[in-house]
Amino acid sequence: MPQGKTSEGDQLKAMRQMVRKLARLVEVSVTINSTLDAEALLDFIIRTAADLLECEAASILLYDERAGELRFAAATGSNPEVMAQISVPLEGSIAGNVFSNNRPLVVNDVSTDPRHFGRIGEELRIEPRTLIGVPMRIRERVTGVIEGLNKHSGEFTEDDVQVLSVIASQAAVAIHNAHLLAELRKAYNDLNQLDKRKRDFLAIASHELRTPLGVIMGYATFLQEEAEGEISEHAARVLNSAMKLRSLVEDMVNLSLLQMGDAEIQRKPVPVQKMMLAAYDEIIPAAEAKSQCITIHMPESPQMVWADEEKITLAFANLLSNAVRFTSNSGRIAFCAESKPHGVCVMVEDNGIGIPEEELENIFKDFYQVEHHLTRRYSGLGLGLAISRVVVELHGGRIWAESPGVNKGSTFYILLPRYDSD
Ligand code: ADP
Repeated sequence: MPQGKTSEGDQLKAMRQMVRKLARLVEVSVTINSTLDAEALLDFIIRTAADLLECEAASILLYDERAGELRFAAATGSNPEVMAQISVPLEGSIAGNVFSNNRPLVVNDVSTDPRHFGRIGEELRIEPRTLIGVPMRIRERVTGVIEGLNKHSGEFTEDDVQVLSVIASQAAVAIHNAHLLAELRKAYNDLNQLDKRKRDFLAIASHELRTPLGVIMGYATFLQEEAEGEISEHAARVLNSAMKLRSLVEDMVNLSLLQMGDAEIQRKPVPVQKMMLAAYDEIIPAAEAKSQCITIHMPESPQMVWADEEKITLAFANLLSNAVRFTSNSGRIAFCAESKPHGVCVMVEDNGIGIPEEELENIFKDFYQVEHHLTRRYSGLGLGLAISRVVVELHGGRIWAESPGVNKGSTFYILLPRYDSD
């Protein structure tokens, strides 16, 4: 009778222990799946593995494809930098055996096992007695091995293999995801740095070009006015080219100031019609030079917006100028404004070269042009739409383009919030 009681008591104890372990495994799985920092994740996994296996140490080895070896990613109680230097060959090591055979392994007398790779014990400053290793897999691919060393009492059992296998399967995916995230973060940071360098270059280059350009224009104007005949004509050409260059430099300066948030925006209530007419007056000579007709439609009542007059006029002029440039001689352009429930929508429609659907978003990026730079027929820096977008967005508005396709014309829209005097 006392015998029966003892074994029931043992069974109950074993069951309680199992339930505790299972509860711990669920907890572990939640933590593993919610930790995105690779180092913290590895550290958590090995500490938990050692704890659940009730052993002295645990480690994770990941496969290094380039070297064809396993490399320590983490080990309890060890210096991570020293560990990272230790590579473990696939042949002649217990971890290598687990990895190559894609099967768990329990070795309960490490010192006599010929597969034991002696250097690990030396580096970890642990005398290995018992060892358990299970493969880490993502789908069917083995990515590494997780090991436990020196069970506190007795030997590693089949239960330990099951517990470690559960941890390994979660760990493999989580480590893979954490590495992917780290790579993504790095790529994002590199991209940000590159973007910053581009912006710095834009700011410096445009600033440095302005001064000599001013001098060239000053002297060319002087020569054109003072000299006579051929020299005056040559000076006029220099002046003409310098003015084109200045317009490009101004675009660079404008974009750089806007992107850095240094541009001054001076807003006041302005009727959209006033800015449309100013943009129209600016562009009409270029349209006439190509025998194009620009029709203009605007509501009669003033459509008030809270705007920096000069900058919104510039955005309208950019759209009109593009319509003229990307539409052939005698083409048709419509410039309209419409009152909408939440604002005023200005449209520029042309029957020009059109825009492929996949480029409709890209064209608003700085320096972006649909045509390849080596074969392009149209001049420009690819900045006009980028400037217009920043300007419109600074006003809380939206800019976008639509086109039925190549050679089917394009329509550009700018939607500005209406000025509310209350
Ligand atoms: P740029 O005109 O100097 O190239 P933009 O930023 O104004 O720079 O325009 C970017 C690109 O968008 C143009 O190079 C062109 O490929 C395309 N694009 C802009 N407006 C039109 C239009 N009305 N019709 C066809 N393509 C256009």
